[in-house]
Amino acid sequence: MASDGCVFCAIVRGEADASIVHEDESVIAFMDLRPVNPGHALVVPRAHAEGLEDLQEDIGVQVWTVAHRLGRALRRSGLRCEGVNLLLADGEAAFQEVFHVHLHVIPRFAGDAFRIGADWRVDERERLDRTSAAVRSGLAALDVARH
Ligand SMILES: [Zn+2]
Repeated sequence: MASDGCVFCAIVRGEADASIVHEDESVIAFMDLRPVNPGHALVVPRAHAEGLEDLQEDIGVQVWTVAHRLGRALRRSGLRCEGVNLLLADGEAAFQEVFHVHLHVIPRFAGDAFRIGADWRVDERERLDRTSAAVRSGLAALDVARH
């Protein structure tokens, strides 16, 4: 996967400025350049992966582990943090803007400006059952591909 011109790969290589909060052998975390709230961090695998499709699962585990720790750290940081959102945008339709996988760790507080709009109506059981079958078939396809 090409990483030329990828701003997160440039940060991993130390060629672009970043305010780093965590580094290990597989993951790096730094402050989002355009924070939703102060303390908004991004957890990024060192190896370039455009999205979930090409992210190794074991690296994904480490991304989550670091995000989990950062979410807990925010509550001990002195920054305003009454809650935390972990958010991953996979694909343009999901608002992904930098095509190197990253998990947002966003400190939240009552009355902040962050919004996620959706139609949260309760769905019909029949449709939920149909969609769960579709998702299970997707999981089965992954299992077939793995063997
Ligand atoms: Zn990259």
